[in-house]
Amino acid sequence: MARVIIIGDGPGGLSAGLFLARGGHQAEVFGQDKTAMHYAFLNNYLGVPAVSGTDFQRAARRQALEAGATLRDVAVTRVGAGADGVEATLESGETATGHYLILSEGKNPVLARSLGLAETATGAVQVDAEGRSSHPRVYVVGRSARPTRSQAIISAGDGAKAALDILAREAGKDLQDWDRPPQG
Ligand SMILES: Cc1cc2nc3c(=O)[nH]c(=O)nc-3n(C[C@H](O)[C@H](O)[C@H](O)COP(=O)(O)OP(=O)(O)OC[C@H]3O[C@@H](n4cnc5c(N)ncnc54)[C@H](O)[C@@H]3O)c2cc1C
Repeated sequence: MARVIIIGDGPGGLSAGLFLARGGHQAEVFGQDKTAMHYAFLNNYLGVPAVSGTDFQRAARRQALEAGATLRDVAVTRVGAGADGVEATLESGETATGHYLILSEGKNPVLARSLGLAETATGAVQVDAEGRSSHPRVYVVGRSARPTRSQAIISAGDGAKAALDILAREAGKDLQDWDRPPQG
């Protein structure tokens, strides 16, 4: 089982936490529910009828929790290398260690920048199609990687992509999280 530190509790971070927890990994999501979603009213999240960003977040947090992710109401002040790969220092001074780090910090990717990750010509954190950054164990998803093209559904998709990439790396083969309707 991999331990994954996820920083940011908007759609990107919660989606990553949901998929990783459903895949049997330990997903710890750090954030204080200060997402931009609280300013949004969603009319464009496919398959979801019009909903306030706050109600969306409430449902998303519950879904991630029920899947087994841990939500920690605390800010992270520093990230770096750790015994198992990566480490996060919390406001309290406590540290959390993990095998992978997913950064979903939103519009101010301070921690991503502190790692010196490669950036695009326009100043976004540079990632590949799976959300992998220039650091082999660090993913950057959502608004941090596309600051001028930010949509909730894209951040959620980015989080899911990064999670599936970690599931595949751990399993040594591609995996998908597919369910069928209950029978009977
Ligand atoms: C007024 C407004 C209206 C919008 N309307 C829409 C809309 O109609 N439809 C739509 O699709 N999108 C809309 N958006 C955009 C939408 O809110 C974003 O696309 C979405 O929130 C991005 O999700 P994210 O997970 O990438 O980042 P965010 O939602 O920004 O989440 C980042 C989270 O990380 C946390 N964080 C950052 N650093 C740390 C740290 N060091 N430690 C702990 N936590 C940390 C932040 O506090 C935040 O909670 C709107 C945005 C605004 C401002």
